[in-house]
Amino acid sequence: MNRVKILILGGGYGGLKCAITLQKNISKINADITLISKHDYHYQSTLLHKVAVGTYSARKARIYFRKILDENKIKFIKDKIVRIEQSRVIGKFDEYNFDYLVIALGFKPNTFSIKGVDEFAYTLYSVNSALKIRKHIEDKFKDFKFNKNIDSNNDLAFNVCGSGFTGVEFAAELASQSKELAKICGINENLVAINLISKSAQVLPMFDMKLRLKAEEKLKKLGINLIYGSVVECKKDSVVVKNEDSIFEVKAHTTIWTAGVKGNEALDNSIFETKGSRIKVNEFLQISEYGNIFVLGDCAIAAQRDIIHAPTAQLANQMGEYCAYSLIDLLDNKPITKAFKFIHRGTVCSIGHTDGVGFIFNINVAGEIAAFFKNIIENRWILSIGGIINVLKKGQFRFRSSS
Ligand SMILES: Cc1cc2nc3c(=O)[nH]c(=O)nc-3n(C[C@H](O)[C@H](O)[C@H](O)COP(=O)(O)OP(=O)(O)OC[C@H]3O[C@@H](n4cnc5c(N)ncnc54)[C@H](O)[C@@H]3O)c2cc1C
Repeated sequence: MNRVKILILGGGYGGLKCAITLQKNISKINADITLISKHDYHYQSTLLHKVAVGTYSARKARIYFRKILDENKIKFIKDKIVRIEQSRVIGKFDEYNFDYLVIALGFKPNTFSIKGVDEFAYTLYSVNSALKIRKHIEDKFKDFKFNKNIDSNNDLAFNVCGSGFTGVEFAAELASQSKELAKICGINENLVAINLISKSAQVLPMFDMKLRLKAEEKLKKLGINLIYGSVVECKKDSVVVKNEDSIFEVKAHTTIWTAGVKGNEALDNSIFETKGSRIKVNEFLQISEYGNIFVLGDCAIAAQRDIIHAPTAQLANQMGEYCAYSLIDLLDNKPITKAFKFIHRGTVCSIGHTDGVGFIFNINVAGEIAAFFKNIIENRWILSIGGIINVLKKGQFRFRSSS
């Protein structure tokens, strides 16, 4: 008998959750399931700002697929997906057929073709991109004392463009860690300047005004300069910002671009219609024209009562679980009847390791309690994919400041 082939593309929150849920329910399944991802490890994108600043090690950030997947149930292949055709996926190294396909290839930074951003700015979207930023920051601090008279590129100023989760979490983590780095390297910490450039009138536009203002207060307390306006150009030593009143330059030799994401560019090379490298899905997370193809997480444009879901890890995770149960039904020859419904359980944005703002089950939280909940959210994810052993090895436990 021909076994049904299921391919899952991408081992992030959506793809891995789908694979692990299938693995846990595999006794009911008669199918060959393969997870294909371009790295042989899963990483929590929500912690990449910590890897970039050096407060969370790359070793801890990687959870190897072959250690958490049961190869008798789910096969793992390392390959980079280049293109998807009608019933075939083209990778860099091989081609793959499928009966059912799950696309969960995640996000890429969107630089909106703004002049100079691709050339001069760092972006944060993978462990490797985070490690590049980390090395750059460490070199800046390490070499600062020795180079300052001979190297005009030498400054400890950082422009962080974008005031969503990634920008705020990165800037705050850097501000907390820069004091430590300055101390280690014997540098006056006042020489460090972190500029957070926000297009919206307040940071974290997904939160209510009370939380946004609280977050701004906390960022200012960390010494971060909040600058409002749109970045119109990125240069080697500055970004050009435009607001209602003027156009001005914000000086810094290091720019981190966190001002937007899109889906995966492999989708633009495929047979589907895309918008921002994402694909529109129906209420069952399928592409309407291709009932055997599901799209999850940041690659999907999914709506509930006409409101498009903001792409988040929480959304991808719930989509992954839903998709796995839909596949189980399809393999049992049952139609999918229940539409995907996103349940917003809360969101927390960290502001340094021991502070944050957010809401949990509709209650606003801030300070150490927010940091505590943030850790619970991260650890719960690790528990769901890797069990208690991985939580103990890789979990987040620090939420109180030593003072
Ligand atoms: C610093 C930072 C902080 C964030 N904080 C939060 C937060 O606090 N809360 C929240 O809900 N969300 C947060 N997000 C957003 C969240 O990380 C994403 O929404 C989430 O990762 C989307 O999940 P996904 O499964 O769609 O994609 P991802 O988790 O990005 O997974 C994509 C997978 O596909 C693989 N892949 C990519 N391209 C290819 C290819 N061509 N071929 C093969 N494999 C490929 C990748 O290696 C990866 O395994 C944050 C993001 C960042 C960067």
